[in-house]
Amino acid sequence: MSSDSVDSGIEIDEIVSAFKTSVVVRDRKHMLKTYKKCFVGSEAVDVLVKKDIVSNRKDAVAVGQVMLAEGIFHHVLREHQFEDAKLFYQFTEGHGEKVTKDGSKVSWSDFIRPVTKETDDSLQPAMPASAATPEIDFNISEQLAPLDEHNLRLLDSVHPSAWQDPKAKPKYHMVVIGAGTGGLVTAAGSAGVGARVAMIEKNLLGGDCLNYGCVPSKALISAAKAYYAVTNQKGLTEMGITVEGATIDFGKVMERLRRLRADIAHNDSAERFASKLGVDVYLGHAKFLDKNTVEVNGQKLTFARCTIATGGSPRLPDVSGIKELFEAYHKKEEGAPAIVTNESIFNLTELPPRFAAIGNGAIGLEIAQSMTRFGSETTVFGRGGRIMGKEDADIAKILQDQMSSEGTNFELGVEKYVSLKKTGRTNGSYPEMEMQVLLKGGESKTFLFDALLVAAGRTPNVGSLDLEKAAVKYDKKEGVIVNDRLETSSKGIFAVGDCCTAYKFTHVADFMARIVIRNSLFFGKDKFSKLIIPWCTYTEPEVAHVGLYEQDIAKKGQVVTVQKDFADNDRAILEGETEGFVRIHTLKGSDKILGASIVGANAGNLISELTLAMNADYGLGSIASVIHPYPTQAEAIRAAGDLLNKNRLTPTVRAVLRQVLKFQN
Ligand SMILES: Cc1cc2nc3c(=O)[nH]c(=O)nc-3n(C[C@H](O)[C@H](O)[C@H](O)COP(=O)(O)OP(=O)(O)OC[C@H]3O[C@@H](n4cnc5c(N)ncnc54)[C@H](O)[C@@H]3O)c2cc1C
Repeated sequence: MSSDSVDSGIEIDEIVSAFKTSVVVRDRKHMLKTYKKCFVGSEAVDVLVKKDIVSNRKDAVAVGQVMLAEGIFHHVLREHQFEDAKLFYQFTEGHGEKVTKDGSKVSWSDFIRPVTKETDDSLQPAMPASAATPEIDFNISEQLAPLDEHNLRLLDSVHPSAWQDPKAKPKYHMVVIGAGTGGLVTAAGSAGVGARVAMIEKNLLGGDCLNYGCVPSKALISAAKAYYAVTNQKGLTEMGITVEGATIDFGKVMERLRRLRADIAHNDSAERFASKLGVDVYLGHAKFLDKNTVEVNGQKLTFARCTIATGGSPRLPDVSGIKELFEAYHKKEEGAPAIVTNESIFNLTELPPRFAAIGNGAIGLEIAQSMTRFGSETTVFGRGGRIMGKEDADIAKILQDQMSSEGTNFELGVEKYVSLKKTGRTNGSYPEMEMQVLLKGGESKTFLFDALLVAAGRTPNVGSLDLEKAAVKYDKKEGVIVNDRLETSSKGIFAVGDCCTAYKFTHVADFMARIVIRNSLFFGKDKFSKLIIPWCTYTEPEVAHVGLYEQDIAKKGQVVTVQKDFADNDRAILEGETEGFVRIHTLKGSDKILGASIVGANAGNLISELTLAMNADYGLGSIASVIHPYPTQAEAIRAAGDLLNKNRLTPTVRAVLRQVLKFQN
């Protein structure tokens, strides 16, 4: 992200209160009729300019229009927009609450409340950059398979075949390109506070998260976890439980996945966005024509603000033969081996006997662990010598050891993926493939498998938007370039989510959208760098993190790290889940939490306590005084607070405390 170059914004609350106290409100007459407690549009414009809230009358009208859209005031007969003219306006009683078409109330303050606050420093660690390769576009009809009742229900929600684009309005407050999490939240939030919004999606509403990311992967993981618990008798025998004859039906696992995904989809549906939230939904490929216009399906959409939320695509690594085989598989050519990405793996209906994953980050590991548990002979390939490059090495090792113990093979010293080809043999219904790999020590190895997941990084979707026409700068690796307020190089055009950040998570896309709503429509000053970002890899054990790593803090000063092992936590012992720990970093001399990692059961849930504390600037020492119910794993966090407090007792303080106790004898 480039440095901040946007003018400092003005708080909408400040504007409203300055405006309300300065504009002259009194009864006004027009054509023998008296209008109670009104102000005049042109006088209001005078106020906004004289008070230096804006620099010219044109901007004053824009600000007035936002306030009118927010329901702060309205034209006396509700016939006019806000204009620099002799028109009468009245303040609305109890303004600020909008009712959407489905009757739910949306308060503008929900969205224009600051999302970030000023802290001394950003608590975001450096993230590995994505790599640049050409984007691979998929044809919609090829994407979802099988086209059973569940996938058809999904398509009815997120890409209805009979969808008719609306007729473009003369001008939109906000045009959103892409309807993944970032786009959906921007569109819903903007429409919820009264803006005229268009949202364009070329593929499936819901984007990666719903269709080929978080949702299906977690459905897969839950089945794998349940099966592993019974087949490996994980802790069960000791409890006196024996489960015999447990079997897995992979086809049913995948059907459940498709059913649950379709069940969840209504939230992201075209119908809901169009009818209930009042968003103009276009299904087509968006391209910029200029700085204020986007084209979709032959219609030109003019906007005051635009948000690019085009996400990212899986990257194909440089292996001789992979591209041809990959394309053949996705064109459903006879005998093509199953080379899948996150966009096609959830289409599988039969368990591949031998499964491989290129990529040892969250996506590769979550899916590889599940496939091993279902019974595939699984190998994970990687280059760095270890898994989870950005997490602490000992944490990564705990997970790797667990996965190895379950049967996953790791080949992490790959120097070069040399070639991939089909062997001509089949294994069940899977055409077999052969990959030749050169290892770091110079050894060459050949592997045979039946399905290959490519999860080796993501490429931002920036190539086919004609960004140049809108003067939006971008980089093929980093994506759309935005400043700290998420505005691009082109004024009024913003970007959110995977297309512009290295923190490629659904919740980050969501919060970026909240920042954009505030900064673009309400003169907010929220900064992305101030977001405190947690994340979790949903393997077993889970690995969760928030804020800085030890090495980031060490650059600023001496780090004090406290760690509580789950082996010492009563609940973890009783659950038989003693592997892992809570590790929390503070800067020496303070109990301010700067970062934390948790490895263990429920790490993803536990990290939220620390994220909340960091957001509220609540120190680890103070967490020690917060009652946590016994017995819970969260007590490990409180115990870490106790440990920090204990370690902070200097010899002098200890001596004084001893003296005090002596007096009590
Ligand atoms: C397997 C997997 C598991 C994951 N699990 C998790 C998890 O557990 N938790 C988590 O936080 N994150 C997870 N993620 C990451 C998460 O899915 C993404 O960070 C999130 O979906 C990003 O949202 P987005 O809105 O930026 O982009 P996307 O969801 O990718 O949406 C972008 C949309 O823009 C559309 N688009 C692109 N170009 C155009 C155009 N020119 N015109 C019109 N439309 C266009 C695309 O079709 C797409 O629908 C996972 C990802 C994967 C792949």
